[in-house]
Amino acid sequence: MSDSNLIPVTLIPGDGIGPEIVGSTLEILETIKAPFKWDKQLAGMAAVDVSGDPLPQQTIDSIHKTGLALKGPLTTPVGKGFRSINVTLRKEFGLYANVRPTRTLIPGGRFENIDIVLVRENLEGFYAAMEHYIPVDDDPKAIATCTGYTSRKECRRIVKYAFDYAVQHNRKKVTLVHKANILKELCGLFLEEGRKVAKEYEGKIACEERIVDACAMELVLKPETYDVIVTTNLFGDILSDLTSGLIGGLGMAPGANIGEKAAMFEAVHGSAPDIAGKNIANPLAVLHAAASMLEYVDRTDLSKRIEAAIKKVVVHDNIRTKDLGGNASTSDFTAALKQAIA
Ligand code: NAD
Repeated sequence: MSDSNLIPVTLIPGDGIGPEIVGSTLEILETIKAPFKWDKQLAGMAAVDVSGDPLPQQTIDSIHKTGLALKGPLTTPVGKGFRSINVTLRKEFGLYANVRPTRTLIPGGRFENIDIVLVRENLEGFYAAMEHYIPVDDDPKAIATCTGYTSRKECRRIVKYAFDYAVQHNRKKVTLVHKANILKELCGLFLEEGRKVAKEYEGKIACEERIVDACAMELVLKPETYDVIVTTNLFGDILSDLTSGLIGGLGMAPGANIGEKAAMFEAVHGSAPDIAGKNIANPLAVLHAAASMLEYVDRTDLSKRIEAAIKKVVVHDNIRTKDLGGNASTSDFTAALKQAIA
């Protein structure tokens, strides 16, 4: 393929296990001749080491140019004075929807037939909160307060995104997850807008409502009854880790951040410093993220090849990394995936 037909993508290898699992993913993308042209940039500790800034302007400029990024996990620098990298990226590029699919891969586990897509609002709620202490008597931290917000516009946009996703991916049902019985305004507005949007899809996509605590219980008791879930920022953060736990943990969970100015694909897990450099990390979360990126650029043919190769290697050939109960190294696992996909 000529260079001019390739799609430019900002590539952030990340910290800890990031370079190992992103490297593995690149090898597989190369094997299938994925139509990407990489612009490699730094963020996280790798960037701090070079420039003192965990999110250099050059990296931001690159994403503005490409509109697309594949990102390895970043270590959050400890100490004051650093901006939160993920929150800065979400704001800068208006990444309003965080899409986290969870699908059973290995049969015979604790849960079977799970196929849930969780859509999390990414810009508001308690993540956009103002926090402060109120002193009482001689205790400067006697009371802590937190003021989060939701806007009608974002509530509508995120629920509409979930329903459109359901239509495009032949899904049957969207569940609105909230806590409007207690947070009557913060979550009430989400539910009010959610119900209005659901009406527009009547006859096409079914709509259910769940209070978040009941949803957490049902996700453990009968996860196979859930299809697409849409919820606010903090609830989505918690429930998406729960759903990834249902299918074998964070090593399998990809996430897509979709926005107005860019889309960013990544693993849900962090930089796993405890296993970095040991050639034992599971690359599947980043590889699934790369498969979603292929879908995003209308190359579903290639994303299907990746998903089929993963199934063959992990399920039929029983080659797995340690976190999935196997003993394959990252490089052996990658070699098996490359052989399966070639
Ligand atoms: P973590 O997700 O890095 O690790 C949690 C546990 O899961 C560890 O035992 C780790 O070994 C294991 N694990 C994670 N990914 C794995 C994989 N691919 N294969 C095998 N095992 C895997 O969470 P943490 O230890 O709390 O965080 C480490 C750093 O990552 C922190 O600095 C944190 O802020 C950062 N972090 C970044 C992101 C991101 O960039 N999106 C997300 C979460 C955490």
